[in-house]
Amino acid sequence: MTNETLDAVGGASRGAERFDHWIDGWGAAPVGGAYRPTTSPVDRSVSFEIADGDGRDVDAAAVAASSARHAWAATSTAERSDLLRAVGTAVRENLDGLVEAEIAETGKLVAHARAEMLSCADYFEYYAAVVRTMHGETIDQGPGQHTYTRHEPFGVVGIIAPWNGPLNQASRGIAPALAAGNTVIVKPSEFTSAATLRFARLASAAGLPHGVLNVVTGTGPAAGAALVRHDAVRKVTFTGSVPTGQVIAGIAAERVIPLTLELGGKSPLVVFGDADLDRAALAAATTTLMNSGQVCSATTRLIVERSAQDALLGRVSAILEQKQPGVDFGPIITEPQFEKVLGFFESAAEAGATALTGGACYRQGAAASGRYIAPTVYKDVTPDMRIAREEIFGPVLVSLPFDGFDEAITLANDTEYGLAAAVWTGDVARGLRAAHLIEAGQVAVNGGVMTQETPFGGYKRSGYGREKGAAAVYEYTQVKTVSLGLAPQELVS
Ligand code: NAD
Repeated sequence: MTNETLDAVGGASRGAERFDHWIDGWGAAPVGGAYRPTTSPVDRSVSFEIADGDGRDVDAAAVAASSARHAWAATSTAERSDLLRAVGTAVRENLDGLVEAEIAETGKLVAHARAEMLSCADYFEYYAAVVRTMHGETIDQGPGQHTYTRHEPFGVVGIIAPWNGPLNQASRGIAPALAAGNTVIVKPSEFTSAATLRFARLASAAGLPHGVLNVVTGTGPAAGAALVRHDAVRKVTFTGSVPTGQVIAGIAAERVIPLTLELGGKSPLVVFGDADLDRAALAAATTTLMNSGQVCSATTRLIVERSAQDALLGRVSAILEQKQPGVDFGPIITEPQFEKVLGFFESAAEAGATALTGGACYRQGAAASGRYIAPTVYKDVTPDMRIAREEIFGPVLVSLPFDGFDEAITLANDTEYGLAAAVWTGDVARGLRAAHLIEAGQVAVNGGVMTQETPFGGYKRSGYGREKGAAAVYEYTQVKTVSLGLAPQELVS
């Protein structure tokens, strides 16, 4: 390992831990020699120095991943299962170091960061089990043939991750990709790379053969684009924004390689008047506070039956007003995102929406030195406002009233996105009817829970392909049909 502590850099970065790429089971200094600081959203201090890679580093990782791919694909499912389980165990045994790295770059609450690292372990343990169930099928063509299918890996898979749930989201792709027999190159967000780099070191120490899992860090245009363009990379999973997804989809189309796209959302939380309003209010407050709304599937578009609107919003605001920055919710992770959320506040004011609570960042006290934004609830929102249409990715709930079931569904579907939705009602049959009519990849009725076992992915501009769940392992395979002739062939003259 060449993961070292800097002792000779000047200014604010003095003492920051330096991370090299992880290529072929070793720390690899960036070919260009540059490192990029990541910062803490809690106080904007430098957290780490991260290798600032480009296409040359991607080339090195591609050589390693290509060299390792045949041996890895040839391992038995039992061997891969054992190794994936060992990786999960390594995560659990080294949870504190991973949590520390994640918090240093994201400012997440300890409980939240721990939950995400445990979720990472769970991905490896879950796909360790799933890989033992993988199988092709036989196709009966009569007695003269024996025909069957095989699910073969693509070879080298590229995984590009965002900054809001860095290691958790990367693991969601790494675990099934490895389980299916692919080798992997991960490109984490340039804002949040440390936990993924620490994880890769742990995974190698746990027994993953050299070159099977590689991490190249750097910016999207320099390192990410080079990964998607690389000839050796035969499949890409991208999690991030719609504009970047569109760029990557263009390159994938040119190269004719498959792509899984997990993009943004503007997910509805539909509350009917007969719902348990206390539970619905808690759900609305939780989705606002969770990672300060920086969750792709956050249901921050509150669509509430007009008769219940004031009662519900009163409850939600009362919960949120008690919450303290740094204690009950974390900061906005990146500076550009912080500025973006503040821009939404300006747009809401200009459009005439009323902030029942929040609507600003903290300008006094300890929270003022970090990127903290007060949990916010908007009323008097109309469907055409920017805050009703665009993904805010901050602790901001916007409320739209409805009259009747049909209008609820129309409003829920009045978005270009379709990642997730939540429905609250006292009438379970109506809840399920709504779930079937809402255009989204996941719908939770009355607090239904999603886990590693439940498929996840978008409708509409939220993307395509599915992650999580047993079937996701097949997203990392291509089907080959093999047919063996058993009878003497009739010659055609
Ligand atoms: P982003 O699109 O800016 O960046 C995502 C990743 O892509 C980063 O690693 C970045 O470096 C890389 N990238 C940027 N430009 C690139 C290029 N030209 N070629 C290749 N790679 C490039 O997104 P973000 O700001 O990091 O994340 C926030 C977005 O991600 C939100 O829209 C959120 O909804 C979405 N998201 C979706 C899911 C999901 O599962 N659907 C999960 C988390 C986040």
